[in-house]
Amino acid sequence: MSEASQFDALIVGGGMVGATLACALADSSLRVALIEGGAPRDPRRDEPHDLRVSAITRASRQVFTALGAWEGMVARRVSPFREMQVWDATGAGEIHFDSAEIGEAELGHIIENRVVQIALWERLRNAENVSVFCPAACARLRREAGLIHARLEDGRELSARLVVGADGAQSRVRQFAHIPVHGWQYDQHGLVATVRSELPHRETAWQRFLPEGPLAFLPLHDGRCSIVWSTAPEHAARLQAMEDAAFCEELGRAFGGKLGRIEETSARAAFPLRLQHAECYVAAGIALIGDAAHSVHPLAGQGVNLGILDAASLAEVLLDAHAANKDIASLAVLRRYERWRKGHNLLMMAAMDGFKRLFGSEWWPLRGARNAGLTLTNRLSPAKQLIMAQAMGRGGDLPRLARL
Ligand SMILES: Cc1cc2nc3c(=O)[nH]c(=O)nc-3n(C[C@H](O)[C@H](O)[C@H](O)COP(=O)(O)OP(=O)(O)OC[C@H]3O[C@@H](n4cnc5c(N)ncnc54)[C@H](O)[C@@H]3O)c2cc1C
Repeated sequence: MSEASQFDALIVGGGMVGATLACALADSSLRVALIEGGAPRDPRRDEPHDLRVSAITRASRQVFTALGAWEGMVARRVSPFREMQVWDATGAGEIHFDSAEIGEAELGHIIENRVVQIALWERLRNAENVSVFCPAACARLRREAGLIHARLEDGRELSARLVVGADGAQSRVRQFAHIPVHGWQYDQHGLVATVRSELPHRETAWQRFLPEGPLAFLPLHDGRCSIVWSTAPEHAARLQAMEDAAFCEELGRAFGGKLGRIEETSARAAFPLRLQHAECYVAAGIALIGDAAHSVHPLAGQGVNLGILDAASLAEVLLDAHAANKDIASLAVLRRYERWRKGHNLLMMAAMDGFKRLFGSEWWPLRGARNAGLTLTNRLSPAKQLIMAQAMGRGGDLPRLARL
């Protein structure tokens, strides 16, 4: 095998999470290959927002800043949100968060997934120790002579002692390592679209809990909103197929007219929602990060943020081990990463799932309790501040890259 195809670590998947790990390992003495099936397209500033956007927490932003990628995101387009308003369609309960209450300029940013990814990739251009293979899907993995070999679809073969699966919920790396997953389908699809409303969004992220699932309006810098409507798969299919005018009307009604009439919509797409957690995050020579390790309900916009913290934590563990002359592919080293992240992710997943169930229930005592709970929490500033800190990704044991 030639030296050009042998690395210390292969990262399979160059999405937001895999690219974060590659950046975090850039400029180190580790030789890293990033393998991605399809490159994202750089948007022009005046073109419509892509349907796939994410609410990026303060902690993730800090990671991007430390990696030198945040400027590239801002130069394209990021949309800050300063307030958050959450209410229940079946009662009077509501809660309002304001960044000013905790002395912050904003609670987070809405950013297109492709903008996050491109800005991270841009940063990799100057990293001599990271080779990017794209478009290059990893077709097969095998173990031989203490190495893991990845065969790419174009026939090239790369090898390393460590392979990181950042290849999303259907992870091939996870399947190769025979790591089982636990979880369930939510019997909901997340319908996404970009819409214009009659009233301004006031840089507020809005979420209304309907009996069929939450409906979120996320503010974009051009005055539009990106919506995520979690609802029954048949309903999502109907909404997707509707004429634009009929969809706008149904959306406005479902949102209780909070932002007036919905005047304009983009085409729509829908994604099946599931909770999925890998039984373990590591095996000999293997580590899983991001959606390869866990998928959560999008209701609190935490999915990719957990993955960014996985990437920053794994990089810290690997760089510390390498500096101490330890084998970065050994189970002892990789388990440090698993111990660090798995408990935190599990807690977040349980909280998201609990919310989903609490707000999905039509059982009247629960309905009453959640409305009373929202109103009470809204009045208790320590409880609110704790929730805001968690939502901004400030809770738990943060990796160095995420600390302010
Ligand atoms: C409707 C919806 C709304 C959401 N909103 C939010 C939100 O507001 N905030 C938030 O934090 N999260 C949100 N999420 C979740 C978020 O989108 C995911 O957590 C995130 O995309 C996971 O990133 P990832 O890099 O781990 O995986 P992915 O985004 O799935 O990326 C995996 C990458 O691996 C590549 N790949 C896969 N297989 C191979 C292979 N064999 N060879 C080479 N490359 C490969 C793919 O091309 C892809 O680029 C939302 C999800 C949905 C469905």
